[in-house]
Amino acid sequence: MVKNDPFANATKQVNDACDIIGIKDKELREYLAMPNKMMRVKIPVKMDNGKIRVFTGFRSQHNNDRGPYKGGIRYFNPEGGVEYMEREVMALSSWMTWKCAIVDIPLGGGKGGIYVNPKTEKLSDGEMERLTRQFAYKISEIIGPEKDIPAPDVYTTGREMTQIMDTFSKLNGNKYSPGVITGKPISMGGSLARNVATGLGTAYCVREAAKALKINLKTSKVVLQGFGNASTFAGIYLEKMGAKVIGASDSKGSILFEKGAKVSKLMEYKEKTGSVVGFPGSKKVSTEELLTAKCDILVPGALENQITAKIANNLKCKIIGEAANGPTLPEADPIIAKKKILVIPDILANSGGVCISYLEWVQNNMGYYWSFDEVANKMEKNITKGFKDAYELSKKHKIDMRKATMVLAVERVLEAFNQKGIWP
Ligand code: GLU
Repeated sequence: MVKNDPFANATKQVNDACDIIGIKDKELREYLAMPNKMMRVKIPVKMDNGKIRVFTGFRSQHNNDRGPYKGGIRYFNPEGGVEYMEREVMALSSWMTWKCAIVDIPLGGGKGGIYVNPKTEKLSDGEMERLTRQFAYKISEIIGPEKDIPAPDVYTTGREMTQIMDTFSKLNGNKYSPGVITGKPISMGGSLARNVATGLGTAYCVREAAKALKINLKTSKVVLQGFGNASTFAGIYLEKMGAKVIGASDSKGSILFEKGAKVSKLMEYKEKTGSVVGFPGSKKVSTEELLTAKCDILVPGALENQITAKIANNLKCKIIGEAANGPTLPEADPIIAKKKILVIPDILANSGGVCISYLEWVQNNMGYYWSFDEVANKMEKNITKGFKDAYELSKKHKIDMRKATMVLAVERVLEAFNQKGIWP
């Protein structure tokens, strides 16, 4: 048993949704919760010093009732070790299934990873490439444009995606296969707007939430926790919609700047000094002070497990847009609901990424490419519809948005499962 088992959390969410839908059958609940397949592989790599090092990698294929498995590959070393990572990858693959169902794209859920931290271990480019290609080789039999389509995730980039695509192509008689993976660089068949997708999707969701609550974005204040890809682009697009960013953070600390600041200026400052901390006119605060600052919109876009019960009790925002995966602890949810804060749960708020991954795959399959606006508009349609469907359901059943999105997603997967039946 691993401590704070993330897969137990994912399973609980499925069971909670089943309770609301009225699914009593234990076997059916198990079918919905468990991954269809979990592959654990040994990855031997010749290091630069001539020695061999053996890494452990995973690919969890959770559900493909609505379409091929889809989800990222992370290179990470969670504190709980390899066994924890196995459970984490299983949980994340389950969340991918529900993410794809909410935004109604014809894909299922998968996730993978290697237990390694390329940042702290300072692997050379050559070691990284040998590791990536060996992993791609090991999982090559279960991935493919019609089977399972990986993408980037924590500490993986377009470079790794290209190497996985190239390895897969070469193993398959040099067959050009851009659709085996998404999040590729544009020169390799990537899609415009994929790099901003997650943050842009979060901004669209926040806009819809503000409309529902009759909050004017033009006079709204935003706090961004984390200053990575998802939260910076969420900030940039919310700013374009008229909102003002008044707080930010990164791994070096948190700051508040009452008068507001342009996200582009914060980015420039971070680029120059390595952190947003010290930004002229800002005040350094604790993580707790940042999260509980008076604002309209809080975007937790950093790590998991940030909003605890204690923090929830002190929140002063009206909307939470979860750009990160799993930023809120289950203990905090009922408190947030009581305070009538509207939460856009992670599986909806950060689904812009996989939504544009889907559009990348579509473009690869047809060999024809859309403009930035065409891609962004298509994603906007899917994600705003996802928000509206979930919001209506939450009102109808008087349940919070986290439960509503899960109910919606589970119902959609079940519908596909029932259509197909079991064979052989
Ligand atoms: N890793 C991203 C996520 O967690 C993107 C997955 C994808 O594009 O397939 O949503």
